Amino acid sequence: MAATQSAHDRHGLGTEVIAHATDQLEFARSIRRDLHKWPEVGNDLPKTRERVLEALEGLPVNITLHETTSGIAALLTGDKPGPTVMLRGDMDALPMPEDTGLDYASKVDNVMHACGHDTHVAMLAGAAKMLAERKSSLPGRVLFMFQPGEEGYGGAEFMLNEGLLDVPALANGEPSPVTAAYALHITSALPAGFIASKGGPVMASSDDLTFTLTGKGGHASEPFRTLDPVPVACEIVQALQTMVTRKFDIFDPTVVTVTRLIAGTASNVIPETVTAHGTIRAISAKTRSKVHDEIRKVAEGIAAAHDMKVDVTIELGYPVTVNDAPSADFALDVSEALVGNQQVGRMPNPVMGAEDFSYVLERLPGAMLFLGGTPHGVDPRNAAPNHSNRVVFEEDAMVTGMAVYSSLALRTLGVPLNT
Ligand SMILES: [Zn+2]
Ligand SMILES: [Zn+2]
Repeated sequence: MAATQSAHDRHGLGTEVIAHATDQLEFARSIRRDLHKWPEVGNDLPKTRERVLEALEGLPVNITLHETTSGIAALLTGDKPGPTVMLRGDMDALPMPEDTGLDYASKVDNVMHACGHDTHVAMLAGAAKMLAERKSSLPGRVLFMFQPGEEGYGGAEFMLNEGLLDVPALANGEPSPVTAAYALHITSALPAGFIASKGGPVMASSDDLTFTLTGKGGHASEPFRTLDPVPVACEIVQALQTMVTRKFDIFDPTVVTVTRLIAGTASNVIPETVTAHGTIRAISAKTRSKVHDEIRKVAEGIAAAHDMKVDVTIELGYPVTVNDAPSADFALDVSEALVGNQQVGRMPNPVMGAEDFSYVLERLPGAMLFLGGTPHGVDPRNAAPNHSNRVVFEEDAMVTGMAVYSSLALRTLGVPLNT
């Protein structure tokens, strides 16, 4: 109690928001556990959508049910005029088994909320409830983006293409455009309740690489009568690594990882083809496009040197997630006002995973923040990571998450936190 009191003296409305978020913890926990038990994959999430609608029931929000996906846009209009700020929570799970042993573990075979998106939905619904309770003093609007299909299904782009940002004018005819967007992502790699982010690139682009090398098959004892694609495919894989280290500035890095090689059927048969799959990451648009060109050059050059043909396909995934620097600074400052500077960190480097909030940040200034979710009593260095079948997230961290979401909206609309 004493600590809360002194925090109150320091942070004014910040502490009030934390207390308000603490009041929502059981509400959020119940949503989170329901979703955790019944996880869904992709863009079609009927059960999840139903649970979100139940959570929003009775709140003064205008709900738009998206038609191309299970996305939900909920718009809260304050009693005072102002712009719109968007908060995003993704909702989808992963196609994998769960081995956490939790009593609310997944009841669906081979589907698990292993990236914590169940907590994102719960925190966003909690923030909607908190901000709805402040409707009478809210100078503007908050758009809550409940997004499906983050895990590779392009859910954010579907929602944007369906007109997510085309919010109507206010009742008096004044426009109220969306001027900023924020997202949180929970991670078991940071202590519970810790907030981290950075300006500029914060997550990588992710593209899929496939190449098929075609030679000429034959008897394994007489390779000179064939065009053996196996050693040449290996040469390409090695040369790609050399290309990455010799052609790119280490301060604007790229990762090319070949994860799968498919060749042959028997020990005495030289196959006609080898197919390789892998992933390409970058943290700038410039390097992303250059590495695509260099991959083609290396593969085609080496294939030609051995009289073979190679077909290189690069399937574009999510672009680089680039935080607007002033928005990231603002979000970190808001977080510090809530939880203190010991609980907030500026990331030295981006994370090489990818995120489709990148599409939102291509259109709007804003930032993506990481929220620590290591269970109490576990060292973050030893915690099972996001996407692990054993990952567990600390639900208490949702208090910080709800407070940060709400405060970002309040502060963006000009409501002071330090009163
Ligand atoms: Zn994930
Ligand atoms: Zn995720």
